[in-house]
This record gives sequence, structure tokens and C-alpha cells, in this order.
Amino acid sequence: MKKRTIVILSIVIAIIFIVVVAVQFNYFYTLVNMRVASFDGSVRRSMFHTARMVEDAETAKYLSEAFMMEEGEEVLSSASMGNRETPDMYGIRPAQINHSLDDISSHMHDRIRRSFIRKKVMLNDLAMRWLKEVPDMPLTERINVRHAEQYLAHDLANNGISIPFYVRLIDYKGNVVYETAGTDSVVTENTAFYSVVLFPNDYTSQTNVMRVYFPDKKECIMARVKDMATTSFLISGIMLITFIFIIYLLIQQRNLMEARTDFVNNMTHEFKTPISSISLAAQMLGDESMSKSPELTKNLTKVILDETKRLRMQVEKVLQSALMESEKSVLTFREMDINDMIDGIAGNFQIKVRSMGGELATDLAAAESFASVDELHFTNVIFNLLDNAVKYSKPDVPLSLIVATWNDRAHKLLKISVADNGIGIKKESQKRIFDKFHRVPTGNVHNVKGFGLGLAYVKNMVEKHHGTIKVESEYGVGTRFIISIPYISHFDD
Ligand code: ADP
Repeated sequence: MKKRTIVILSIVIAIIFIVVVAVQFNYFYTLVNMRVASFDGSVRRSMFHTARMVEDAETAKYLSEAFMMEEGEEVLSSASMGNRETPDMYGIRPAQINHSLDDISSHMHDRIRRSFIRKKVMLNDLAMRWLKEVPDMPLTERINVRHAEQYLAHDLANNGISIPFYVRLIDYKGNVVYETAGTDSVVTENTAFYSVVLFPNDYTSQTNVMRVYFPDKKECIMARVKDMATTSFLISGIMLITFIFIIYLLIQQRNLMEARTDFVNNMTHEFKTPISSISLAAQMLGDESMSKSPELTKNLTKVILDETKRLRMQVEKVLQSALMESEKSVLTFREMDINDMIDGIAGNFQIKVRSMGGELATDLAAAESFASVDELHFTNVIFNLLDNAVKYSKPDVPLSLIVATWNDRAHKLLKISVADNGIGIKKESQKRIFDKFHRVPTGNVHNVKGFGLGLAYVKNMVEKHHGTIKVESEYGVGTRFIISIPYISHFDD
């Protein structure tokens, strides 16, 4: 896939994601607003109902007083005239049956008129008393607070609001004359509250107010929204991570493709040089027209041998890589003394190091030196590290190579380190040297050919031995690779 395609794909995904998140935000913002509006509306309705109920209750109180007064008067008036005759329910006495209908009707009319006047006077009195009494009466006496609270709770519940609320009554002087028990400890300055004017029909301009606080309003409104929002943003998050992961895989795939192309070019070059050298030497040897001194023959033979060896080495590397690729590659583990093994490899390698003026030292201090390894592959691992130390040595400084072993008893590990005084690896490159086909950009520092496969193979093999490998390196000073694999304990502690 082209780099541009990946970039365009990433941008499109980023835009889609931003749009999705923005739509989600907008949706939840609107939803919350709607819930707030519905909550406000319900509370206001319930409070209005309660205020009206409170006013109705006061009216009923006065009316019942008036009714009682009227009853009292009626009893008095009927007592004053009752001894003479007993009126039936229409006030018609049996002795008057003979009277004409007109008389009866005028008598009734008279009584109704008198009753009406009496009631009107009484109501007038009542209204006057009501008007006079009420402004001076404490608010708490005008309202049955417990009743009002119950009524409000009931009405709120009918409107779907069943969270705790706290009531405060504030009279026209601004004094709090009543509050629900616990209001002080729960209600803060920021608690949402609603107000309603009590007795709006009073003739005075004094406004008494009932305030209702809802400490849990936010939670009530956010309750369901929160769950929905969390789920939906979580899904978006997972989507984003998946997208990022896919893009990452694409980039990695692309890099691998590039590296593979480089590898093929590199390999062709690496193979071509020895092949052409060999074929040239062979041609010269076979050319009968050319006189060959024993010296020349020896030289040509040496070229052929050396180049063949080089070719074999290259083939070996590619084979190692192929082996590493196939998951099926079976390792045959055997318990081996790693100190012995390293001693053997170091002995063989010493010749190579000495021939270039360097020195290889060993410090095999691991007491627990047995581990379960595949002999061939583990030898390759150590060999690759030593080979790299030679390949990446400084041309002007004699190579000093130290191979050491020791134990980390706490973790039951056998540690093997290969340290050199070579060119070193820059910090930023250290992370990637174990990647397949990765070669540190060499610039002018060194010009060693390789496929970038050696360390990938080493890491792969160490992991197949249930171990780890890390690198410590300072650019221009040297490099140290440390392998840790589990040892097989021979000294029980
Ligand atoms: P190759 O040697 O074929 O390039 P490797 O996987 O063996 O591939 O190494 C990867 C890179 O790590 C090398 O290109 C080199 O730059 C760096 N490297 C490995 N070993 C050493 C070392 N001992 N000193 C300095 N650089 C090293």
C-alpha cells in the first residue's frame, strides 16, 4: 500500500471519528437540556399546585369558621321563636295549610331574602376579618406545613420526581420561618432550588415565598444519561483504538515490504560479488593459454575457497531467517553446560579475533551453568553476537571482546553477556536493532554488509528458550548484549 493511501486513510478515519464524537456530544447535550427542562417544568407545576392548595386550605378554614358561626346563630334564632310552633323543613306550620299559595310563596321569599342578607353580612364580616387578620399573622400559622410538604411530595411523585427535597418558608421580611429538618446540613449555596409565591392574592404587596431545594437534582437528571454516554463513548474509544491499530499494522506491513525489497537487493548484491569472484578465479584457472605460477594458482584457489566460505555464511544467514519464520521449526532441547559451550565457541573465535589484532576474554562465573538449550541454535546465537562484535568494531582500535556468564539466583536465571569496544549503537537505534531486516543507518561510520537478520534471529531463538535479551550501548564506546535464560538448578539452596 502506498504511503499516500495510508495518510489519506488516516485523515479520513480521524475526520469520521471527530464527527462521530461531536455528534455524540451534541446528542447528549440536547438530551440533558431536555431532561433539565422537563424536571424544571414538573417541579414548577407541583409547586404551583401546592401554593394553590395552601391558599384553598386557608379559604376553607375561614369558610368553615363562618359556617360554624352561622350554625350558632341559627340555633339561637330558632330557640327564640321555637316555643311557639315547630317549623317543618320548609318553615310551614300545619295550621297554615289552608292559607293560599300566594301567602306561602311570599312567606318563603321573605325567609330566603332574610337568610341571604344574613349570610352576606356574615361573609362580609368574615372577609373583613380575614383581610385584617392575615397580614399580621405569622406565615406558619397560615400554613399547615406538614400537610403542604406531603401534598408537594405526592404531586412531585405524580410528575415522576421521587428524589428527596427540602422546603424553606421565607416570609415577606426575608426571614426563614420554617425549614425541613436537616435542610441546613444538606443545602449549600449551589444547591438547585425553585421558588413559588404563597398567597399571591393577598391585597398587601408582601410576598411570602416557599423555596424547594433538590440536592440530588444533578444525579437525578444525569442518572440514565451517564450510563448511556459512558457506553457510547466507550464504544467510540474502542473503535478509535481499533482504527489506530489497523493503521499501525498497515504502516508496519509497509515498512516490512520495504525492508524485504531492500533485503532482496542487498542479498543479490552480496551473492553476486562472491559469485563473480569465484567465476573469475575459475575462469583464470581454466584458461590454458595463461601461464600460471604455483603462487598464482594458490592465490586463485584461496580466492575461490574464501569466497565460497563467504557464500556459505550468507546462505546460512538466510537459512537461519527462514528457520525462524517457520513456526514448525522444532528445537531439540538438551540439558547443557553453557559455560562449556561458550568456552568452545570462544576458543574457535579467538583465532578470528587475534587475526585482526584483538583479544577475546571469558569470565564464566555462573555456578549454575546448566540450561535446557538446542545446541545448534544456541551456538548460532552466541556466534552471531560475536560475529557482530567483529563486524562493528572500530577500524583503528584493537577489538576487546568479553564473554561472561553469571547467575541471578533470585529469578533462577543464567545470564550471558557479550561486550565489545566497537562503534556502539545510538539510543534511538537500539529499540529497533532486533527487528527483522533492520540495519542501523550507517552513514560513513562503517560499511559492513549484512541483511539485518542476525539479531532478529538471536532474539527469536532466545525467546524460544524462554529467555530475554537486552542491549546496553554507548555510541562510540561499545556495546553489551545480555541474554537471560532459566537455569537448571544443580545446587539446591
Ligand atoms: P546485520 O549485522 O546483518 O546488519 P543484525 O541484525 O546482526 O544485522 O544487526 C542489526 C544492526 O545492529 C546492525 O546493522 C548494526 O548496526 C547493529 N549492531 C549489531 N551488533 C552491533 C555491535 N556489536 N556493535 C554495534 N552495532 C551493532
